[in-house]
Amino acid sequence: MSHRAIHMIVLLVWLTGFFLMGFGVWGFQAGHLMVMGYLLAGAVLYIVAAFTIRCPRCRMPLLLTPMKLLGMDLYRWKLITPGKCGHCGEVL
Ligand SMILES: [Zn+2]
Repeated sequence: MSHRAIHMIVLLVWLTGFFLMGFGVWGFQAGHLMVMGYLLAGAVLYIVAAFTIRCPRCRMPLLLTPMKLLGMDLYRWKLITPGKCGHCGEVL
């Protein structure tokens, strides 16, 4: 199974968990805090994944992809792993 497929599944599981937990705990006294905690945990998970998932060839983070805008080199963070490395073009 490719990196991309695994990340899609992780994202779907996270989203399903978010909605299930959101509907389940929203009525509680501090339910919104639980939802915020879940969001924060998801953000921490994404940050860890963004810096640890790297291209096997050039060792750059896969989720960080360069783009050209008006002659400037800009970088953006992606949610899903691209099919090939944005830095060296290595097919994953
Ligand atoms: Zn690369």
